[in-house]
Amino acid sequence: QPSGRSGVLAGLDPDQARAAEVVDGPLMVIAGPGSGKTRMLTHRIAHLVLECGVPAGSCLAVTFTRKATEELRTRLTGLLGRKADAVAVHSFHSLGLAILHAHAGRAGLAEDFRIAREAERKAALAEALGVSDTRAARLVKAVSVLKRSGGKGAGEEAEARIVLDRIGRAQGWVDFDDLVLLSADLLDKDAEIAAAWRTRFPHIVADEFQDVDEQQYRLLRLLAGDNGNLCVIGDPDQAIYGFRGADAACFARFGRDFPAARTLRLQRNYRSTGTIVKAASGFIGAPSSGLTRPMGEPIIAHAAASEAAEAEFVAATIESLLGGHDLLAANRAGGVTSSGRPLGFADCAVLYRTDAQAAALRTAFDRAGIPFMKSSPAPIAGHPGVTAILDGLDGAEGQDLAARIGQAAEDARRARRADAAALAEARGWLTALSGSVQVAGDPVLLGEAVALSSEADFRDERAARVTLMTMHAAKGLEFPVVFVVGMEAGLVPFSWGTATPDEEATQDEERRLFYVSMTRAKDRLFLIRAKERFWRGAVRALPASPFLGQIAADLIVSESASGRKSRQSQQLNLF
Ligand code: ATP
Ligand code: MG
Repeated sequence: QPSGRSGVLAGLDPDQARAAEVVDGPLMVIAGPGSGKTRMLTHRIAHLVLECGVPAGSCLAVTFTRKATEELRTRLTGLLGRKADAVAVHSFHSLGLAILHAHAGRAGLAEDFRIAREAERKAALAEALGVSDTRAARLVKAVSVLKRSGGKGAGEEAEARIVLDRIGRAQGWVDFDDLVLLSADLLDKDAEIAAAWRTRFPHIVADEFQDVDEQQYRLLRLLAGDNGNLCVIGDPDQAIYGFRGADAACFARFGRDFPAARTLRLQRNYRSTGTIVKAASGFIGAPSSGLTRPMGEPIIAHAAASEAAEAEFVAATIESLLGGHDLLAANRAGGVTSSGRPLGFADCAVLYRTDAQAAALRTAFDRAGIPFMKSSPAPIAGHPGVTAILDGLDGAEGQDLAARIGQAAEDARRARRADAAALAEARGWLTALSGSVQVAGDPVLLGEAVALSSEADFRDERAARVTLMTMHAAKGLEFPVVFVVGMEAGLVPFSWGTATPDEEATQDEERRLFYVSMTRAKDRLFLIRAKERFWRGAVRALPASPFLGQIAADLIVSESASGRKSRQSQQLNLF
C-alpha cells in the first residue's frame, strides 16, 4: 500500500510515512519485526535532508552493533548518495568516544586516554585489592553491570569500582562502559558542552531502542534535551540484552520523560512470508501484523543424527536450494528469491546460540566448498600483525575488541572520503584500542591492515558468502534463507545449568531471542537439531527444544534424520 506521498516518502506505506514526517518533537515508533522501522528511519533522515533542508551533518543515527551501523549506512547511501557520508551514524560506544575525545580534559581524562581490556583491569584489581584472579574477574564483571545499570552498588563491588576508576585515571585508561557513562556525566555537568552537542545534532534517531541500558538512555536524553527531536524506534518483543542491563521498560520511561512524545505503530510485515510471520507471532504471543506476502513454504524442522550431520544437512540444503545437488527437491532448478533474483550464497544465513557451534559448520562448508563469512568473534584474525592483537583475549571481550577495531578501520577507510572529524574519530578508536591491546606501530597503519584483511572475508557484503553468526548478532538483519541450528533444550533456550533468581526473566529473554532469529527469514526457515552433540565436556543426547513444539503445527514440517520425510514434505517445492 503506497503512502501517496511524493518524493522520498513515496517508498513508504501510509503508517511509515506518517512516522517519517513527524520530524519535530519526541516520537516513539513501536512495531514488530520486518514492519519497516529501520526503513522508516532511513527515509526519515533522507526526508529531513532532501525535503526539509536539514544539513546531513545535523542528523545523528544511533544503533547498537557494528553490523547495524553498516546496514544503516548502506541504506542511507542508497537514498542520499554521497550526502549520506555526512550523516553521523554511531554505535553508543563510538558516540561516547567521540564526545570524550572532543573534551577529554573536561571529562577528567588524559588527552591520549585509551581503553583497557578486561584482563588488564582484572590484573590491576587483583593487585590493588590483594584478591585472587577469580575474585578479581568476578568483581570486574560486577563493576561493568553497575556502570551499565547506573546503580551505586555496595560493599566490595562499590569499592572495586572506586579502585578501578582511580587506577584507570592514574594510568590513563577507561573501559568500554565508561565511554557511555562518562560522556553522559560530562553532558550532565557541563551545560555549555551539552548545548554545543545539541546544536550539532538537532535531529536524533535511535534504532533498536528496546535494547538500550540505563546509561545509553541517559546519553540520548541529554543529547536530545527536554523537547528534543528524538525519535526512538524498537520492538519490546525483540529485547535481547537484558543480561547486559538493557531494560525494555525504556519505552514507558521515554513516555514519562518526554510527556509531549507521540507514539506511532506500523502495522504490516514486509519482510517475511505469511507462514513465517504467523509462526513467529504465534510463538511470541504478539498479534499477527498485516501480511503483505503470500504464505509461502512451510518451515522445515529437521533432526540430524549428530552435530556433524547437522552441519552437513545445512551445507547440502544450501547446495540444493542454489540448484546444486538435489537433496530435498527432485529435479528442481536453482531457487529464486522473492524478488525473482536467483538465490546465491549471500542470501543464506546460519544462526546459532553459542559461538562454539560454528566449528562443525566450518568443517562441513569447507568440505562442500561453500564460501562463508563468520561475523564474530574474530573477523580480523588471520592477518599476521593483527592476530597477535587478538591472542590471549578472552571470549566476549575478544569479540568486542575485534568488532570495534574492525569498525574503526572501516570508519577510517570511509573517512578518507568524508570529513576530517570522522577521520579523527576513527583514529581515536584505533589509538584507544591499539593501546589497550599492546600493538606496536602506527594505529592508522594498523587500521589499514585491518581494513585490508577484513575486507574479503568479513565486511564485503557483495562477497557471495553464507553468513554464520550468533542469534544476538543477527538483530535487525534479514536473509532470504535462514537456518537456526542447535534447536535443543539447553541451547535453545540456553540453560546456564544453575537456577538463578532471575530464571523467569532469562527464559523470557531466550524466547525473544528465538523470536528475533525466526523473524530474520524472508522466504525459507529451517530449524535444525542434532540428536547428540559434544556439549559441556561430553557427547550428550539433548532433547528437542521445547520451542519447536510451540510453533503452530500447520506451519511446520518435520523430517527425521533417516531421510524419510513426511508425505507433505516429499511434495515440497523448495522455491
Ligand atoms: P526489525 O525489527 O527486524 O529490525 P524492521 O521493522 O526494522 O525490522 P526493516 O528492516 O526496516 O524492518 O524492513 C523489513 C524489510 O521490508 C526490508 O527489506 C524493507 O526494505 C522492506 N520494507 C519495509 N517497508 C516497506 C515498504 N513500504 N515497501 C516495500 N518494502 C518495505
Ligand atoms: Mg530494524
